[in-house]
Parts: sequence; C-alpha cells; structure tokens
Amino acid sequence: MNATACFESLAAWLDTHADALDAQASRASDVLPQLVHGRVVGVGVPEALGGAGGTIADAIDTVAAVAEHSLTAAFVLWGHRTFIEYVLQSDNDAFDADILPRLLDGGIAGATGLSNAMKYLSNIEALQMHAARHADGFALSGGLPWITNLRREGFIAAAAFDHDDGSPPSIFAIPHDRSGVERSDDLDLIGLRASNTAALTVKSTVLDARHRITADARNWLVRVRPAFLGLQCGMSIGLARSALLATSQAGAASRESIRAETGALEATLAEQTLRLKQGVVDGTFFERPAALFELRIALVETVTRALSLEVQASGGRGYLRNQGGTARRVREASFIPIVTPSLVQLKAQLAQQRLASAA
Ligand SMILES: Cc1cc2nc3c(=O)[nH]c(=O)nc-3n(C[C@H](O)[C@H](O)[C@H](O)COP(=O)(O)OP(=O)(O)OC[C@H]3O[C@@H](n4cnc5c(N)ncnc54)[C@H](O)[C@@H]3O)c2cc1C
Repeated sequence: MNATACFESLAAWLDTHADALDAQASRASDVLPQLVHGRVVGVGVPEALGGAGGTIADAIDTVAAVAEHSLTAAFVLWGHRTFIEYVLQSDNDAFDADILPRLLDGGIAGATGLSNAMKYLSNIEALQMHAARHADGFALSGGLPWITNLRREGFIAAAAFDHDDGSPPSIFAIPHDRSGVERSDDLDLIGLRASNTAALTVKSTVLDARHRITADARNWLVRVRPAFLGLQCGMSIGLARSALLATSQAGAASRESIRAETGALEATLAEQTLRLKQGVVDGTFFERPAALFELRIALVETVTRALSLEVQASGGRGYLRNQGGTARRVREASFIPIVTPSLVQLKAQLAQQRLASAA
C-alpha cells in the first residue's frame, strides 16, 4: 500500500474507534501499532535514517490530520514523534542510535516527560528529577506525575535532571526495563483514556552517557521548543478542522445562520496553520519564542470558537453520546489549554515580557 492508502486506512480505523479511544483505557495498546501502519510516525524524519522524509512542517500536518479523527491518537503521536525529534536533535555523539529504528517500527514507545523541564525553562518550577555521579554513569531518582505513551509493552521516556555536582541539568532517555523504573496505573482521566497516561518514578536507576540526550538542557530545550510546540499546535489545528467540518455538515437551517462566522473562522485557521509551519521551519520561533506563544494562545481560541459553532449547529444530537463525535470533541478540546506550556503559563510569560520591555 502507498502512504495515502495507509493513511486512509488509519483514518477509517480512527473514525470507527475514536469514541472508544477517548473512553476506554483498555484500547491503549492498539494506538501506536495503528499509527505505525498508517505511516505517520516517520514523517519529517530523513529517509537516510529510515523515515519518510519531509520536514517538521509535514510532521505538524500529520499530527493535525490524525487529530481530525481522534485527539487521543494525535496526542500519542505527538509524544512519540516529539521523542523522535529529541533523538534527531540530540547533541550527544555517544547517544544510542539503535533507538531510532525501534521507535520508527513501534517496537518501543517514545514518551516526553518534559513539562517539568519546560516549566523550569520559564522559571515556574524546580526540576523534579535528580542525577548523581555513579561508577557506571549516573544514578537517577525522582518522579513525574503525568506522562503519555508509557506503553505497557515497552517505552522510553525523556526527562530533565539536575546534577548533585552543580553541573548544568541534563536530559536522559529512561528505558522502561531498567532497575528502579516504575510506571503507575493509568491515571483516571475524563477523556483521552487510551493514551497510556501514567506517572513515572525512578529510584537509583543507573544510566550511562549513551542514554543522555543532552548535557545542556537549557540551551537544548530552547532549540527543540519550536518543534515541541509546533507539533503540539498540530493537535489544535486538527481538532478545530474537524469541529468546523461537523458544523458545515449540520442541518441546512442551523448551518445558514452561522455560515459567515464559520467561513471567517476557517480563514483564520488556515492563516494560523500557514504561519505556524513557516515560523517553525524558517527559525522565526527560535528567534522570537513570543510569536509562537501568541500563536498557541490564538489557536486555543480558534478551537474554542470552532467547538462552540459545532455545538450550536448540531443541537440536541450533539449532547448524545456516540453520535457524530460532538460530545467527544468537547471533552478533547478541554485538554488543549492545559497541556504544557499551558495557556495560563504562556499568558503570564507574555505579560512578564511586556513589563520587562516597558521598564
Ligand atoms: C491527559 C494529560 C496528559 C499529559 N501528558 C503529559 C506528558 O506526556 N508529558 C508531560 O510532561 N506532561 C504531561 N501532562 C501534564 C501537562 O502537560 C501539564 O503540565 C499539566 O496538566 C499542568 O497542570 P498542573 O496540574 O501541573 O499545573 P499546576 O502546577 O497545578 O498549575 C495550574 C496552572 O497554572 C499554571 N502555572 C503554575 N505556576 C505558574 C506560574 N508561576 N506562572 C504562570 N503559570 C503558572 C500551570 O501551567 C497550569 O496551567 C499531561 C496532562 C494531562 C491532563
């Protein structure tokens, strides 16, 4: 099958199972294999490294395309593909290159536990994971309360650690099967339940330099943040698109009264999507992170308005379970403002910057 046919088959599977993926944690093991069969995991990864080629903008498009069908699957793809980006952007020549093929074929799930690190970068939170020198490398300890794609069949999770010797924080890739690594039961979420979201603790887990993604977390995080956030914004784009599509497919009478509003929002979304992909590819968001923060905030607003239009257009049917996806999308949309960097956090950061530049 070619890539288009593979994606169509994935989209059909997601359309059939989207409500179940949102509601049932028991479906979690199906998601990554489906994404791999749909050939979405390797988009934006060089062909020479076993990927499908293309750019990070293509990967953002892919997350959006999956989110049009299921936000649970798109969030799993975000975690997995973002972890792959960490591997691609690792500045450690000694980093274990054997991981990439296993990520691309879905043999292992990539998970990104970097909310804590992103908050650390914005001076909101101290690092919650700690590394101490050890004869065989580093002894790692600490815990993270939320990580998605902690697949029970096997995962590797990125997390940031401070060092007891005062050296700059590092980011390590923690394999699931190391001594001292413990995954909690799935968190009791209101939605996205098949996302393998759980807490992770590590207790005296020893890893060597082959597992260190970077020894300079702060600078490296600034460098990967456009891809991290850009891929995340793909979720907003896909969800807004599917809400607008559902709006345009509602009954003629309800559709007519909100036609102008729907058309204007479609145009806004198309412009935001273009601006996002351009800014990630041409370096604008590396130079001016505030422009990306503003776009992430604006996209949340677009999702909220799109869902409001869908709810208005679908009427009572939208309030029924398992009927056209409206109720699910409303639940999915409530996740968008809280994923790190959260809206509260970004608004606070932009306000601080404005104060600093006014002083
Ligand atoms: C379903 C789900 C899956 C998740 N998956 C992952 C994952 O894969 N990886 C991962 O790393 N995290 C993950 N998270 C965590 C998520 O990204 C957020 O970090 C978390 O939801 C933020 O909420 P909190 O309860 O920690 O915020 P709190 O610390 O309770 O703060 C509440 C709000 O205020 C903001 N805030 C707090 N302090 C400040 C401050 N000083 N200035 C400005 N704003 C502030 C926070 O950002 C948040 O919006 C997941 C969360 C959920 C719900």
